[in-house]
Parts: sequence; structure tokens; C-alpha cells
Amino acid sequence: MIQNLSTTQVLTLGSPAIAIVISGTFFCLWKFHDRRSYLILLASAFLLYATGAAMQILRWPADPGLNNIVSTAAMLASITSLAAGLAVRYGRRAKRWLILAMAGIWLVNSYFCYASPEPALRSYALNFGIGLVLCAVAWRIRHALRGNLIDRGIFWILLLFGLSFFGRPLLTQALPGYLLVPNWLGSQAFDLILQVSLVLMGLVLALLLFAASVADMFTRMRNDRDIDGLTGLWNRRAFDERLESLIARAPRQPYTLLLIDIDHFKSFNDRYGHAVGDTVLRLMGRLIRDCAGDQALTGRVGGEEFAVVVPAEPAEAHELALCLSRALRDSKIPDIHEDHQITASTGLTMLQTGDTVSIWMRRADILLYQAKHGGRSRIVRQASTT
Ligand code: GH3
Ligand code: MG
Ligand code: MG
Repeated sequence: MIQNLSTTQVLTLGSPAIAIVISGTFFCLWKFHDRRSYLILLASAFLLYATGAAMQILRWPADPGLNNIVSTAAMLASITSLAAGLAVRYGRRAKRWLILAMAGIWLVNSYFCYASPEPALRSYALNFGIGLVLCAVAWRIRHALRGNLIDRGIFWILLLFGLSFFGRPLLTQALPGYLLVPNWLGSQAFDLILQVSLVLMGLVLALLLFAASVADMFTRMRNDRDIDGLTGLWNRRAFDERLESLIARAPRQPYTLLLIDIDHFKSFNDRYGHAVGDTVLRLMGRLIRDCAGDQALTGRVGGEEFAVVVPAEPAEAHELALCLSRALRDSKIPDIHEDHQITASTGLTMLQTGDTVSIWMRRADILLYQAKHGGRSRIVRQASTT
């Protein structure tokens, strides 16, 4: 069979070969990236495309009608897999309508190819159907436009990809006759130019998706390094790093640091066990996030010690500390005696000229120490105590 291949066939086999390499790369990314389902969907998409394209180029099966039906099935499955992969990558579920729509397109295509041969109708149904589905997927992931450059690029290429399917049959109609010589499958020679543009768009999309999944991998690695697994807040190192860059910006607005430490946590652990202690720490992380808001820098800076930096005067930050104390007091935790009240002590101090991370934290620590020695469950701020 290989000896019978024409030069054009051998050359055009380049695109399925590239698709196989892309598929293999997505497969490797899937294996090393927590087996994220969108990566295996993308790997299948490119493998299915390679299968369909190879069938068309190698003319296997040899009967043109049968070849069309089988290779179109592989191509449509490839687009379904790509669309599902993109939907999942952008936090959407792969919907059943996608598979049903593709199956419908395939049936219509097969009907106009075999049962009642109508090349023009077949081409319209196939291209408009695919175009519609791809545009619908682009619409579903439109929030990618709020993402970074890669996400926006993926959205636009997908939309362009979808729209190109509407352009194909229309352009074919508008072209001069010499470009429309039917080839062996009954489609026009101009299709070749369109195929090349399709392959190019697929390639750009693949590269953007690689970049996106590698970026995902780096984000995950950075989060693993920087985020405290129990509370979801920044860990000490990441918190200090962010605090350092905040100080380096020398902000004009006031910033206040709160250092919060849970009272008598050791005896709490001894009484209820470490697991219940962990539940309290998790709860503390959630309460801090809820009370402090989006503008705050929040971290778990020690075992049962938390730090919050807010762009606010100490008086406003004091309100936040009170909100936290109230929320902690009112929280119901299963397994702990209902009379047992969990409290925390807080040291609160404003950023001053000349402060470094350690000077600012040290000042807050001294105030926290005063709160502990003053009887715990209290907030101490510079020059005033409550
Ligand atoms: P104080 O009121 O003076 O702050 O007393 P304390 O008992 O809270 O402080 P101490 O520093 O003596 O003990 C802190 C305890 O926090 C000891 C340790 O068992 C507990 N702890 C630290 N990290 C964790 C953790 O990840 N999970 C749990 N459950 N406990 C932790
Ligand atoms: Mg403590
Ligand atoms: Mg402590």
C-alpha cells in the first residue's frame, strides 16, 4: 500500500502526523498533571482528527461514500472531544447536547452522501452544523475573555474556527470555476486551501492550549507552595513575600496589620483531639476570609496564629477584629461542648514609615503578647486597649 502512495498523499500525511504528536503531548500532560479530564479530551480530539484525516488521505476504506461516512464520524468525534475539553477547561460541564448535535450532523451528512447523494446540501449541513456547535461552545466559555492573554486567544481562535465553517461552503459557491474542480471525494479543489487554514487554526489552538495547561501546572505548583492546605490562606513564606512587596510600594493610604492567636489552643487540642483542632483552624480561615474581604492580605503565619493586613485606619481594622471575635464566638462546632467558647487575642498596629516586615510583625507581636497577658480574648492596638 505504501508503494502506491502519491507524493501529494505522503505530503498531506504531515498534518495527521503532527496531530498524533500533539495528541501524545496532551496525553503526557494529562499523565503528569493530576489526570485532568480536559487534557485527555484534547489528546483524544487530536488523535481522532489524525484518524479521520489519514482515512481520507490514504483512501481507506476505498469506497468514496463509505470513506466519507467513516472519516466524517472520526472528524465529528474529534470536534466533540475538542469542544468538551474546552468546556471542561473553562469550568463548564460537557453537555449531552453536544454529542446529540454531532450525531445528528453525522446522520444528515451520511444521508446526503449515501441514501440521496446531494453534495451541496451535504456540505452545507456538515459545515453549518459544526460551525454552529463550535460557536455555541465559544459562547459557553465566553468568560475566558476575562482571563489572561492565552485564555482570550483560545476564545477568539475557537470563535474564528467556528465561523470559518460558515465561510467554507459560501466561499466555495462564490469562487471561479477553475478552483472548483471536484476531487475524488466529490468536494472541490478549493477545499484543500480551506483544509490548510483549518489545520493552521487547529495548530494555533493546540499551541495556546499547551501554553494554558503549562500555565495551569505552574499555578498549581505555586499554590501548593504558597497556600496553607488547612485554611486556604497564604502560608508564612508567601504572606511575608506579599507583605514585603506591599511595604516596598510605599502606599499612601493607611494599612493596618492584625496578628490573631487562638487562646489556649493547646489545651483545646488536648481535650478534643487534633482533628477537632484542625476543624477550628479551618473555620478560622473561613471566618477571616469572610470578615476581611477581597482587599485584605491574609495568612496563617504560625500553628494557630493568623495575620491580616487591610487598607484601613486602625479604628476600621478594630471593627474587623471585633467582627471576627463575634463570628468565632457564635460559631457552632460539632464535637465540642456547647459551653466551650473559642476565643482569640489580637494585636493591631498601623504601617509606619521605615517599617520592614519583621519590624511591623514584631510590633504586632508585642501587642498580641499584651493581649494575652491582659487576660486573653481581647484586642490591643497601639496606645489604646479594649
Ligand atoms: P495561648 O493562649 O497563650 O496562645 O496558648 P496556646 O495553647 O494557644 O498556645 P501554645 O503556643 O502553647 O500552643 C499552640 C498549640 O497549637 C500547640 C499545637 O498543638 C497547636 N497546633 C499548632 N498547629 C496545629 C495544627 O495544624 N493543628 C492542630 N490541631 N493544632 C495545632
Ligand atoms: Mg494560642
Ligand atoms: Mg501561638
